[in-house]
Amino acid sequence: MKKFLIIANWKLNGDFNFINKNINLIKKIDNSLNFCKLAIAPPYVYIDYIHNYLKNTSINLVAQNVDINEKGSFTGEISINMLKDIGVKYVIIGHSERRINHYENNNFIAKKFILTKKKGLIPILCIGETKEEKKQNITEKICINQINSILKICEVKIFYNTIIAYEPIWAIGSRKIADINEIEKTISFIKKYISSINQKISKSIVFQYGGSVNKDNINNLFQIKNINGLLVGKASLTIENFISLVKKAEKNIRLLRS
Ligand code: PEP
Repeated sequence: MKKFLIIANWKLNGDFNFINKNINLIKKIDNSLNFCKLAIAPPYVYIDYIHNYLKNTSINLVAQNVDINEKGSFTGEISINMLKDIGVKYVIIGHSERRINHYENNNFIAKKFILTKKKGLIPILCIGETKEEKKQNITEKICINQINSILKICEVKIFYNTIIAYEPIWAIGSRKIADINEIEKTISFIKKYISSINQKISKSIVFQYGGSVNKDNINNLFQIKNINGLLVGKASLTIENFISLVKKAEKNIRLLRS
């Protein structure tokens, strides 16, 4: 059975001081885990530095983004080959902060997802609805559209062994996680949808939840059967909170699997 994957997305936060202070504590907690697995998504410029720290650990590196081009005159961009070169395993694709702040649309995101998978890294596709879309009761339709934008240009097998993170946009950074039943319902719906196309592919996908998970609300999430990981933003920036969150996840998964 796959380990429960907890990804710390540092976004545009952290510096050498933050890393030097915290990385050994993260390594220490990682050493004590049997059922969970950790991964860190630092800002690009620190990936290589952290990679050196993480040698001989099972903690993986995550890139927060990637360009659609492999090389060439694209000032300011980072390619998938470069990420591979420095030891990145996962790439976050289509995070709502990129959809909103950088105007990334479904078609553009689909290209990144396909390129990442074809190059042998694991894409983490972030999907989810806005507050307005939730009010209109079209969450499932929005999520399926986000998935279909990939299926329009590629066969379903592109999803084999990838990650889909359900992250309701309104829950990100809001201190309020989505309703447990709604998370369960939405993820089940997406799973069934992909399963209706190809059951084996659907089974291979890891589903994560992201959106204001912290040490105080994490226990509730283990009522959801379908998730096997979390994307954690703000709560990963305070080491005490993050460690407490990881310990609770480990305890819950141990109980669920024993
Ligand atoms: C995120 O941005 O993916 C995220 C889950 O952030 P937060 O935990 O801060 O809501």
